[in-house]
Amino acid sequence: MDQKRVAELIRELLIEIGEDPNREGLIRTPERVAKSYEFLTSGCKTSVHEITSGAIFEQDTNNMIVLRDIEVYSLCEHHMLPFFGRCHIGYVSKKKVLGVSKLARIVDCYARRLQIQERLTQQIARAIMDTLHAEGVGVVMECQHLCMMMRGVQKQNSLMNTSSVLGSFHDSVATRNEFLALISKRRVNDG
Ligand code: ZN
Repeated sequence: MDQKRVAELIRELLIEIGEDPNREGLIRTPERVAKSYEFLTSGCKTSVHEITSGAIFEQDTNNMIVLRDIEVYSLCEHHMLPFFGRCHIGYVSKKKVLGVSKLARIVDCYARRLQIQERLTQQIARAIMDTLHAEGVGVVMECQHLCMMMRGVQKQNSLMNTSSVLGSFHDSVATRNEFLALISKRRVNDG
């Protein structure tokens, strides 16, 4: 990303919205915005292969592995405004399992780009399925979209839910129900 050019564009934007880009609080804003966009879209330059190489372990198990409440922060591609929430991932491996922190990094890899929640959910599921040649994968995501909350319909508390189920999570009702039960259990410290 050409940081200098992006900063210049943000400066233009500030002028168009009626701001004075030379006032004290805004002087370094174009550079800050350029930097933050570079980070928030850095997923485009990261590959799942990079993330997972060296972190796939052989294990003879066909138990379900579930990681709940992974934080998600992304930008909607329609308004370039944030959407954020939580993601739950489950998979049944055939022989391969993934280091647990890598699941969260796969989420970030796809979240740090311009997205729609449906596609984000599918891409995460597909990446895990393909990386592990898993028997099945399920991903459920619940997010709040600032483009809905701050503008448009201004629905402050609406939560958008999306899910993607592949392999046995798709074909077997029992497997899918086991996953849904595991992610909807109350947290231990919920009281
Ligand atoms: Zn939007």
